[in-house]
Amino acid sequence: MNHVSTALSRIAASRTTAMTDRAMELRAEGRDIISLSVGEPDFATPPHVIAAAKQALDAGDTRYTAVAGTAALREAAALHFRRDLGIAVPPSQVIVSAGGKQSIFHALLATLDPGDEVLVPSPWWVSYPEIVRFAGATVVDLPTTAEGGFRITAAQLEAAITPRTRWLLLNSPGNPTGATYPAAELAALGEVLLRHPQVMVLSDDIYAPLRYGAGAHATIAVECPALADRVLTVSGVSKSHAMTGFRIGVATGPEWLVKAMAKLQSHTSGNPCSISQAAAVAAFAGPQDFLLDWRERFRIRRDLCVAAINAIPGLSTPVPDGAFYCMIDAAPLMDRFGDDEALALHLLEQGVAIVAASAFGGRHGFRISFAADDAVLAEALRRIDAALR
Ligand code: GLU
Repeated sequence: MNHVSTALSRIAASRTTAMTDRAMELRAEGRDIISLSVGEPDFATPPHVIAAAKQALDAGDTRYTAVAGTAALREAAALHFRRDLGIAVPPSQVIVSAGGKQSIFHALLATLDPGDEVLVPSPWWVSYPEIVRFAGATVVDLPTTAEGGFRITAAQLEAAITPRTRWLLLNSPGNPTGATYPAAELAALGEVLLRHPQVMVLSDDIYAPLRYGAGAHATIAVECPALADRVLTVSGVSKSHAMTGFRIGVATGPEWLVKAMAKLQSHTSGNPCSISQAAAVAAFAGPQDFLLDWRERFRIRRDLCVAAINAIPGLSTPVPDGAFYCMIDAAPLMDRFGDDEALALHLLEQGVAIVAASAFGGRHGFRISFAADDAVLAEALRRIDAALR
């Protein structure tokens, strides 16, 4: 009997990973498909990170580690939180997991009850609402617009909070829009949250090194210190250090929450991969200077994409402030295609995998990742242009 749980039937599979799997399948069949569907830097993982992974293998670091991560990695992650995000925490307030996604999953599953509400600004990253629904809680959509910089306002937040609100999910720079909250706006959101002690904040800062504007990265645990014991900040090495396959995410928050997440993790994956943890120590504690060069290369690609997309009739995109995605509006093309899924299929037929906006709680458009090689990106944009003209 094919029986799935009620919890599983509440959610859909990840549409970012589904499209990426589909692109891989088509390629395996010999089709020429360029994938701009997944957010994954094309750069080679830095050599010192690879060397650390090899050394861990040779040294026999092939056994279980502590569930919440090795002492070395929790310390290196604490260094990362302090140096890169301005959040000073002891290693005991850090947990390492198999990707930031697992940290988010564990944090929400460890704290949500049926009937609880979670505020999720949209367009959102595909997995946020699914994890909330899997936990049996209710997604409260806080819609944002391109005109409003894809950011929620303090008034919008205040109006959405109820006695059942448990979490606000913030993602800055954001996937899929690149929206980046300035310090003053985070402080204003923080003021609202201080009036509602039942609400925690999950701040997903995985794209913090990928900000293209001036000024330092702002994060709510720093901008609103009075909230610090109600904030879980999530980060990792996947996007910053081109280490998606290593599956290492890190999170820091109040000790009770970190312990609750570790309790759950002790029954899911147990510790994250020992080799990957050694590699992540090298990523956080090793040289960081190349990140500036990578960011500049992403910025050049962003500008190339924005110009090319806005030159295609029917498509428009604002300039994303961070991350490596363009959220593209294709509303004028909906008469021709019907919906954004049909548009995504058409583009796939023409050799480019993208993700429809509806996957992110948006509509009438699609997301591309510009974390692809320059020549590949140029060819993908040429194909999109040819397919839609
Ligand atoms: N976060 C990336 C994306 O949105 C990787 C795939 C995923 O986990 O969703 O494309």
